[in-house]
Amino acid sequence: MIESRSNPAPDWQQATCYLNGEWTALIDAKVSVLDRGFIFGDGVYEVIAVDTVGADGAKTRAPFRANEHFARLRRSLDAVRIDNPLSLEQWLDLTADVIDRHPWPRQLVYVQVTRGVAKRDHPFPAGAVPTVFVSTSPWPSIPNEQIEHGVAAVTHVDERWLHCDIKSTSLLGNVLMKQYAIDKGASETVMLRDGYLTEGSSTNISVIKDGVISTPPKTVQLLPGITVDGIAHIATQRGVKVDVRPVAASELKTADEIWLSSSGREVLAIVTLDGAPVGSQKPGPMYCKMHEWFQLAKQEDARAWHAQRGASPNKSHVGERAA
Ligand code: PMP
Repeated sequence: MIESRSNPAPDWQQATCYLNGEWTALIDAKVSVLDRGFIFGDGVYEVIAVDTVGADGAKTRAPFRANEHFARLRRSLDAVRIDNPLSLEQWLDLTADVIDRHPWPRQLVYVQVTRGVAKRDHPFPAGAVPTVFVSTSPWPSIPNEQIEHGVAAVTHVDERWLHCDIKSTSLLGNVLMKQYAIDKGASETVMLRDGYLTEGSSTNISVIKDGVISTPPKTVQLLPGITVDGIAHIATQRGVKVDVRPVAASELKTADEIWLSSSGREVLAIVTLDGAPVGSQKPGPMYCKMHEWFQLAKQEDARAWHAQRGASPNKSHVGERAA
């Protein structure tokens, strides 16, 4: 899209990003067309939500569950056999740095590592250096309308590969499923494989029945979501039973509540599925509690983040590539 010169650039275009050891304007950042991320989708990524929450009397910005995100990044890198280019400390420093460099109270930090630049050929290239990219963008508030009234979802057969546990940048299957939802006037596609729930196109799905939260086990069929783990942790702390078990497609029809969760959407109630009402067709009582508990959990997590950063302050900007 060509922007009129008289229009100020939207916020995100003024962002700065980290690319292979250098900070540069996002809009000017370039990678080679031979980057295997571009050619093969040969890379992995993370998206980390940053919110301004009250911690110890002051409101500060903090990423939610940053350690867990970088543990998952490490698992994804291991799974595709790309050497982790940075240490956990360096990843956390970079995260703190990219947040600090931008004024936005709510941000989505994006982290991507690809196998690097090489002549196009399928085998792993010898000596390629991973491409490391970190950026952030403003994270608009989750619309009240969605929190208060829930969202619509549709179902579809899960047609993706059997490494959905890897947070791969090869997202074509997920992109097609998201567009399927949009084309049907819905907000998410809930995917089913062999008669069982897997996940949403970009979210995990939980089913609530008789006060119990059920969510599918972590297999190769779905992404081990940081948010759904957070929900399970919060629920368990509050004495709500969480059942991690295969969830049959038929249970979606009889559920009291269905939730979707992700870093960018937190927790939202699905109130219609394939046009049929879910429960009372309103966010249910369990959802209302979980939504409130989740906001409190972000405060707790922010305290932990600042305690950790205090103990290990952001010593320097990570400007050098790790050996
Ligand atoms: N499943 C898929 C396919 C996703 O893309 C996402 C969002 N990245 C999730 C689940 C939720 O993961 P998280 O809670 O870690 O954002």
